Amino acid sequence: MQLTLGDLRITLLNDGYTWVDPGGAFGLVPRALWSRYLTPTAESLVPMVHVCLLVESDGQKIIVDTGHGTKITPKVAANMHLERPQGGLLDGLARAGISPQDITLVIDTHLHGDHCGGNTYYDADGQLKPTFPNAEYVVQRREYEDAMHPNERTAATYFPINYAPLVESGQMRLLDGDTELARGVYGHVTRGHTPAHMSIRFESQDQHALFVCDLASYAVHF
Ligand SMILES: [Zn+2]
Repeated sequence: MQLTLGDLRITLLNDGYTWVDPGGAFGLVPRALWSRYLTPTAESLVPMVHVCLLVESDGQKIIVDTGHGTKITPKVAANMHLERPQGGLLDGLARAGISPQDITLVIDTHLHGDHCGGNTYYDADGQLKPTFPNAEYVVQRREYEDAMHPNERTAATYFPINYAPLVESGQMRLLDGDTELARGVYGHVTRGHTPAHMSIRFESQDQHALFVCDLASYAVHF
């Protein structure tokens, strides 16, 4: 799916989907309410789509979130029932005619493994490499600090191999609050899902769009 917003072209790229326990998405909301919108499987799982964005603006090629990536083991992928009928993020990019080397900016909304797992990959020699070698990566500093010091509730979803080497090499820049990230592309701290989760606002020629990411995993959350 593609959206044109003034000078911005925004393409939704599907990194795949998983089958998840609805408790994570709906918490205390009773099943009688959420099941009007989503039909659970016999194992009481609901599908969750993992969306990344490609944003083309002013010669820049920007990725918002990098999905699960390729470092996850088959066992982990099977545990979360990850399915990628069209391949992952990089396959979607290739279909758009874009290679990882073309990407100039990578924006991580937050550092949960399903949003930044594709920041890095293991090459044929087993070396950890940035997936987008020519890009600057950005994330909120508060998010990075939380991800580097996870507590017992968050440790299962923060994996330093997705971000720590990028900060150490200087390829990832840490942001302090709301920031213009590129022409017409703004990062806003929208805490809730994590303390420094970032939503991305787009503005061009009096047209506006907002990518709220994990603030609303499903349309019904609005
Ligand atoms: Zn998340």
